[in-house]
Amino acid sequence: MKALFLREHQVLSLEDTPEPRLINTTDVIVRVTASSICGSDIHFWKGHFPSIPNFILGHEFVGVISETGKDVEAFRVGERVAVPAGPFCGICPNCAAGKVYNCLAVQGMFGAGKAKGNLPGAQSHYVRVPHADACLAKIPDTVSDREALLVGDVLSTGYFAVENGSPPPGARVAVFGAGPVGLCAVACAQLFSPVQLFLIDIEDYRLQHGRKLGATHLLNPNRVNVIKEIKGLTDGNGVELTIDAAGIPQTLNQCITCTTPGGTISVVGIGTPASEFPMMKFMFKNLTMRGGLVPLTQMKRLLTLIEAKRLDVSSLITHTVKLDNIIEGYHLFANKEDNCVKVMVVP
Ligand SMILES: [Zn+2]
Ligand SMILES: [Zn+2]
Repeated sequence: MKALFLREHQVLSLEDTPEPRLINTTDVIVRVTASSICGSDIHFWKGHFPSIPNFILGHEFVGVISETGKDVEAFRVGERVAVPAGPFCGICPNCAAGKVYNCLAVQGMFGAGKAKGNLPGAQSHYVRVPHADACLAKIPDTVSDREALLVGDVLSTGYFAVENGSPPPGARVAVFGAGPVGLCAVACAQLFSPVQLFLIDIEDYRLQHGRKLGATHLLNPNRVNVIKEIKGLTDGNGVELTIDAAGIPQTLNQCITCTTPGGTISVVGIGTPASEFPMMKFMFKNLTMRGGLVPLTQMKRLLTLIEAKRLDVSSLITHTVKLDNIIEGYHLFANKEDNCVKVMVVP
């Protein structure tokens, strides 16, 4: 089969490699019918995230089960499944406590190399998925690969970002960062019926995607003073929930400034340095800050919402490339060429 490797010196290399085989009796082999290129893949490629090279990239994908281990009970060959970016066993003490992002049996994710689980990734034709019964989700017949593709990573993360703030109906929400995660947060925020939903980004084309997904106010910091705008439109008080999906130093400070006293800041963007943290503001406004890695246990709920046409982020997939041309897809996505938001990779 073909697979995209990250080699030494940040080289992407599409190569022939043997197909994966079952190792444990609870494994399945998934034939990848669609994968995506995620921001984290770009970080691995560019060396922003530390990794030990020589591994197959890719952790956001859907496919068809082509082989099952003898102890797999819930899935059969031929079934379509969504796979979480980081698999989990479901039975270790951390999984039992709902902390599946810290599964003691896996400790990692697909396509991240030896430093993080050593699970070959999905930018390939086949993937071995461990602990299939615990972590896979069946894709309903009426849901396409395209509609289901983001459920195992950025859509779950967007949902988690909103859920962390538990906004009551009628709340005001601001999402900083209109990348795929921020845009998924906008779509998921709709499920909580906000009256105002601000979206902040310097890329106008990404803001326009947000408008289609339900953002009520689009703010480009290159043109407006974001804090002033948000305060002006919220009686000077700010919003009940801010979501930091940007992961740049300026954002966290802005989130804290425009969150109403007693409100919540939900952090899902990675990379905000602690030195920027405005402790006094945080203290004197009695704020709550939550964040972290998404527990990928909501895939079935999200697929149910997609099936019922209550949630649809497939418009974020702006480009499709064949696996043979995946490196072009990396350049397209990394450089935001041709107004790219998300690239789907097909065999
Ligand atoms: Zn990702
Ligand atoms: Zn576990």
